[in-house]
Amino acid sequence: MKTKRIYYDDAFVREFEAEVLTCEEHAGNAGKRWRVVLDRTALYPASGGQPDDRGRIGGIEILEIVDEEEEIAHFVDRPVSPGLVKAEVDWARRFDHMQQHTGQHLLSAMFQERYGRPTVSFHLGSDVCTIDLRGPEPTLDILEGAERIANQIISEDRAITARYGTAKEFAERGVRKGVQREGILRAIEIEGADLQPCGGTHVKSTAEIGIILVRHCSKMRQDWRVEFVCGKRAARVARHDFQILHKSAELLGSAADNVPIAVERTINERDGHFKTAKWLLQRLAELEAAAALVAAKPDGNGLRVIARAFDENSQAEYLNHFATQLSKSEKAVALLSQSGEGHLLFAQHPQAGKDMNALLKQVLARCPGKGGGTRDFARGKLSDAAQAEKAVALAAQLLVAG
Ligand SMILES: [Zn+2]
Repeated sequence: MKTKRIYYDDAFVREFEAEVLTCEEHAGNAGKRWRVVLDRTALYPASGGQPDDRGRIGGIEILEIVDEEEEIAHFVDRPVSPGLVKAEVDWARRFDHMQQHTGQHLLSAMFQERYGRPTVSFHLGSDVCTIDLRGPEPTLDILEGAERIANQIISEDRAITARYGTAKEFAERGVRKGVQREGILRAIEIEGADLQPCGGTHVKSTAEIGIILVRHCSKMRQDWRVEFVCGKRAARVARHDFQILHKSAELLGSAADNVPIAVERTINERDGHFKTAKWLLQRLAELEAAAALVAAKPDGNGLRVIARAFDENSQAEYLNHFATQLSKSEKAVALLSQSGEGHLLFAQHPQAGKDMNALLKQVLARCPGKGGGTRDFARGKLSDAAQAEKAVALAAQLLVAG
């Protein structure tokens, strides 16, 4: 059984009648579905980079259409009655695919002919379409140039025709990308611009593409991935891009044209503030450490223990500065915690002669958490941040006892 592909000769058939040849229940990964084969179809299966159509057969929604070479399988969620049925193509979706696919042929042709960048693959996505170009990185001039010439050809309303012939015949006519297949092939000709073997659906004239908008180019392994959109989609995408720009301008309090300058200025300011805050934290830690040392009474061995539980607003980085400052002072020991995230930090001047790592292990044995370090500097994190204060008090007790 062979399905006649109506879309090969006329891609503009939106409704058709066909004979249901088979309708079988089909159990697969996608769940319970019915596989319907018709004697003829205008519904396009996923193939050659173009996504499959949606639509209805006998009023039943199509879930997926698969090209099985001889037959085209339409998957539906309910059985279709045998005999003659009416079927229809979801035209908005299909026409969008035709605009994108034809635009892709034209854009690929321009990149290849004008700039020597052949297309090695393409993808028609549900949001954006891409072509992968081989060769050196396309400059902004090349990207804009290919877009401009393609749009010029669109405005000239040139005819687009499906041609049939052998690979040899097409090669003689200057096909863009040669194929090795035997027999009669189908190729899409854009008058005076391109000839490309393809089984997809295309618009009848370049004007129907509407417009091509090249958005972005990025490196993709050895190739260059160019993102583009055509037709109504181009307007939708441009509108979306503009809204993002407008929102950004509003947030920055600048004109849309000045967004890059305003962003640069904001980033520079942020970096400056970051440096200042870092310097201030360090300076504050020095002063607080000095005050803490003055206040701390040395024990019989001259040991000065500073135990402190910082609140959740303190940063782990501040504990670090504070401990580093304290441990510079002879025979000082810093036992610190932070209640927000449950940080623990034990540090000592080497001559204090205690073991911070061992002390941390002892504390963690009673207040669960993780951590470790050296004899002079150990860091941990409590499983329950609410135990931060208790952990420091415990460490101070153990230190005195030990
Ligand atoms: Zn194609």
